[in-house]
Amino acid sequence: MFLLQLKHTQILLCAALLSGCSEQPWRQGELRKQEVVVVCVQPFSDLPAAEIQAVTRYLRACFSEVKVLKPVQLPASAFFRPRGRYRAEKLLQFLNERTPPGNLTIGLTAKDISTNKGSNPDYGIMGLGFCPGKACIASGFRLKGQNRLEKFCKVAIHELGHTQGLPHCPVTSCLMRDAEGKDYLNEETGFCTKCKAVLLKKGWMLN
Ligand SMILES: [Zn+2]
Ligand SMILES: [Zn+2]
Repeated sequence: MFLLQLKHTQILLCAALLSGCSEQPWRQGELRKQEVVVVCVQPFSDLPAAEIQAVTRYLRACFSEVKVLKPVQLPASAFFRPRGRYRAEKLLQFLNERTPPGNLTIGLTAKDISTNKGSNPDYGIMGLGFCPGKACIASGFRLKGQNRLEKFCKVAIHELGHTQGLPHCPVTSCLMRDAEGKDYLNEETGFCTKCKAVLLKKGWMLN
């Protein structure tokens, strides 16, 4: 019901396992133009400190100002009891309300998150972000392998890319690649030239 009321703009999501990244209707204000991108990292209290630190370190290489907020409890209102996981769009709403004008917030959790996609009312995903907007979320729940922390960083930067208005990218090595129901994160080496140009204009620090 909530989603049905929110039309005309897009929300993009990254998904893992049986899921992919898709576009859905959403309403979200434009991010205010600014020279310095301020990113707020909002960890949820379930996430180990080492994972917060790893993502923060990665983001500090891309943004001139990264603030790490005190961990907060996942809002009970986002818990989807039938599947024992959290609704990503409700988490986005929670994060969005706490984001000052001109800032971006990335929420981080170890819990499984989901949203509706097509006819699937509860689709497991790795992340979700307003496109464009000021809030996004990344979950480490579905990430596997020895380099899962590196993958978590890539999911986070992908979702932040959506907040800047970037859609999915057809370049297979680009961080804005659509997951299409799989985990291609090891094939993603950076932003492609086109995506990078958009982000540089937004004030991102990219090599
Ligand atoms: Zn995506
Ligand atoms: Zn690209």
